[in-house]
Amino acid sequence: MWSNDLADLSSDRLNNAAETIILGRNYGLPKVLKRAFYEILRTSGLGQDNDDTADDNDEDKRFQITQTDHGLLVRTREKLSQAWFETLSSAHHLFPCPNARQDGAPSDQSADRTTNIVACPSVSEKKTQWTQLVLFSGMSYEYSHDVLSGLKIFVDRNWMVEDGYCKDCSKKRKDVSQQQMVSLWKMLDDWLKL
Ligand SMILES: [Zn+2]
Repeated sequence: MWSNDLADLSSDRLNNAAETIILGRNYGLPKVLKRAFYEILRTSGLGQDNDDTADDNDEDKRFQITQTDHGLLVRTREKLSQAWFETLSSAHHLFPCPNARQDGAPSDQSADRTTNIVACPSVSEKKTQWTQLVLFSGMSYEYSHDVLSGLKIFVDRNWMVEDGYCKDCSKKRKDVSQQQMVSLWKMLDDWLKL
């Protein structure tokens, strides 16, 4: 249930993350910690804003994580959010189509001389599509605290059907997103001192 394998991470939320962290820290169960921390990272207010439900507070206080762990969570969330917004703001620059005509070639003439033209949106078209996908849809905000689920959407997206990408660009965008997921998941070990 509290697997530290990225492949087991889904958008399904797990309950009792704070309790799991306390048990994991106190009883030397490091493997449960990563998923438990991630559940708190993607919870509003890092799971701490329950000040208006007095009846529940007594029980909640028994399961409060340490100040040290809270500090780690705050800094880790900042790093994940930074990675997310860097991805959103730079991704369209990172994927020049390997099958595209050279920049500046008039689109209505050079096709006759090139037999290997593959249909793929231009850089500016991709930029517009990307902005539509990540900004206008609300996705940038929705996943700012659940960056791995946001990246998973890019991994799972059918870029060829949805966006008209060529096979190479589709694969590249999926691969880069997957690599970033793996990298961030690994970085959590350092950031959270696991
Ligand atoms: Zn392409």
